[in-house]
Amino acid sequence: NYSLGPKITDWDKQRKQWLARHFLSRAGKPKILLVTGSQPTPCDNPVGDHQLLKAMKNKIDYCRLHGMEIFYNTAHLDQEMAGYWAKLPLLRRLMLAHPEADWLWWMDSDALFTDMVFELPMERYESFELVLHGWEEMVYDKQSWVGLNTGSFLLRNSQWGLDLLDAWAPMGPKGVIRTEVGKMLTNSLKGRPEFEADDQSALIHLLITQSSVWKDKVYLEHSFYLHGYWAILVEKYEKMMEQYHPGYGDDRWPFITHFVGCKPCGGSGDWERCLKHMERAFNFADNQVLEIYGFRHLSLSTHEVKKIRNDTSNPLEDLPNLKTTVPIFSLS
Ligand code: UDP
Ligand code: MN
Repeated sequence: NYSLGPKITDWDKQRKQWLARHFLSRAGKPKILLVTGSQPTPCDNPVGDHQLLKAMKNKIDYCRLHGMEIFYNTAHLDQEMAGYWAKLPLLRRLMLAHPEADWLWWMDSDALFTDMVFELPMERYESFELVLHGWEEMVYDKQSWVGLNTGSFLLRNSQWGLDLLDAWAPMGPKGVIRTEVGKMLTNSLKGRPEFEADDQSALIHLLITQSSVWKDKVYLEHSFYLHGYWAILVEKYEKMMEQYHPGYGDDRWPFITHFVGCKPCGGSGDWERCLKHMERAFNFADNQVLEIYGFRHLSLSTHEVKKIRNDTSNPLEDLPNLKTTVPIFSLS
C-alpha cells in the first residue's frame, strides 16, 4: 500500500513544542507559505517557459506586497507522484520542515493573481483545516467532478492536514493504481471524462465517501475567486477596469484567474487562445504592480508600457492612493 512516509500521529503536539522552544508566538496574523512549482524539464515549446516565468513573477509580486514567503518546486520528490499529484508529497515535506507556517497555500503554475490588493479573510477559516473554491451542493449532492478546484487551496499545518494527505495520496501512484482509480472516479463522479486518476477527483471522492471524517473541517469558498475559471473572466478585464478597482476579489475584480486545461507548456487544444489570454491576465495584474512605480501597459495585449505620472522632486507626496492600489510593503 502506497504511503507518503512514516506515519505521524502527534504532529500537533510536536509542532506546539517546537514553536514554544523557538519562542514563536502564534498571536496576530496566521503565517502562510505559498507553494507552487512546475515540471523539472523545459517545456516542449519555449514560449511555455516564458509563460511560467511570468506566472512566477506574478506570484512573487503578490507575496512581496502581502508579506508572504513563497516556495517554488521543480523537483519530482516522488517518481510515483509525478504530474498534478506532485503537490501532495511536496506539501507534506514542507509542513514537516516548516513548523512555523500555520497554513500552506498551494497554487498551480497556471494560476495568476489578478487582484493584487485582495487579502484572504483568514478569520473566516479559524475552525477549518482545508479551504478550496467550490460549492457544497455541487460536491456532496450533485457529486460533480468540478464541484471544487484543487488548483488553489489552503491546507492547515496540522495533524488533520497530514491525515488528509495520507488518505488522499494512495489514489495517485502512477501505473495500475492511477489507471484503475481513474475508471472508478469516472463511474462515480458526474461529468468526469475518462482519464487516469487526478488529485481533484480523488479529493472529491474522499469527501463524498468519508464525509463524516472530513466534511466538518472543509470550507468551500465562493464569495470570491480563490480559483477563477479563466474562460468566464478573461474577456471582461477591460470592463472591470472601466467600472471597478482592485480589492474585491469577486466578479468585479477576480482574485485569481486559473488557466485550467491550458497546459502553459503547450499542447492543449486551443493553445493560441490560452496564450493570448494568459498574456492579458498577466498584464492586467502587472498594471496593478507597475502603477506603484508610475507605469502601465499600453494595453492588456502588449508587454510595452507607458509612464502615467511625471517625476517630481517630492516623490513621497505622489505615492498612489493606497485604498485602491496595493498596500505597499504591507503598511498594515
Ligand atoms: N506540477 C508540478 N510538477 C509537475 C507537473 C505539474 O508541480 O511535474 C504542478 C503545476 O503547478 C501545475 C499543477 O501541477 O500547474 C497542476 O497541473 P495543471 O495546471 O496542468 O492541471 P489543470 O489545472 O489544467 O487541471
Ligand atoms: Mn492548473
